[in-house]
Amino acid sequence: MPSQGKLYVVGIGPGNVDHLTIRAKKIIEDSEVVIGHSTYVKRVQELVQGKEVIMSGMGKEVDRVKKAIAMAREKKVVLLSGGDPGVYGMLPLVAEIMAKNDSPVEWEAIPGVTAFSAANSILGSPISGDCAIVSLSDLLVSWREIENRLISALKGDFVIAIYNPSSKTRKPNLIKAIELISEYRPGYPAGIVKNAFREGEQFTICKVSELKKYLDEIDMSTILIIGNSKSFIKNNMIVTPRGYGRKYDC
Ligand code: SAH
Repeated sequence: MPSQGKLYVVGIGPGNVDHLTIRAKKIIEDSEVVIGHSTYVKRVQELVQGKEVIMSGMGKEVDRVKKAIAMAREKKVVLLSGGDPGVYGMLPLVAEIMAKNDSPVEWEAIPGVTAFSAANSILGSPISGDCAIVSLSDLLVSWREIENRLISALKGDFVIAIYNPSSKTRKPNLIKAIELISEYRPGYPAGIVKNAFREGEQFTICKVSELKKYLDEIDMSTILIIGNSKSFIKNNMIVTPRGYGRKYDC
């Protein structure tokens, strides 16, 4: 039987409601149920008044998705995800569960501004073109895989965005990653962005060889951007030219 409701997997962007897309905002406003980690529910608090709100904690993602799918048979349900739901967010889990169970529930993903685009805007323009994103979290992926991907990105001269760089228990991963990055790119620019577009925003621009000085500042609210061979630092910005200078006078 087709479902009456619908599930929306909504990316809420990196910070406060100002960075929601118009569509994301409208869908949250029109929904009946909002489910999400408490951090994300608090960020969109002003939009969820009068709705059924279900908050759950870290590590409860599978339960949260199953609940959202079950409720979406009857109701318009929003499942919140920080940044973009497809980038280390809730979307892959929803898609996996939907595919596995051939669920009849209708669903749709609403993209959001991901942390690397937010950090890119703050740092100048380090990304500019081909970029690899790597998460240092080994909760779902083995450290060996993470290390192999990081080395491939370093060898490929990709600008690299490092998500989930550190937590209370995962500092050693960050230290290992910085040592690896320093082997390949010691003098290259690096940007550290904490709490992009939300309270507590701060950023630092330095050389890769200096990253270790900032170990204590890098936490789960931080993203790192590692420049490539074209990147340079000027006026406290990282710039990675796209190649216009080869063709045009600029
Ligand atoms: N889906 C999210 C990423 C979730 S993984 C997105 O698209 O952005 C969580 C990691 O994202 C954090 O550990 C951090 O590395 C990064 N992150 C998310 N929001 C951020 C912000 N506002 N400022 C800096 N880093 C952020």
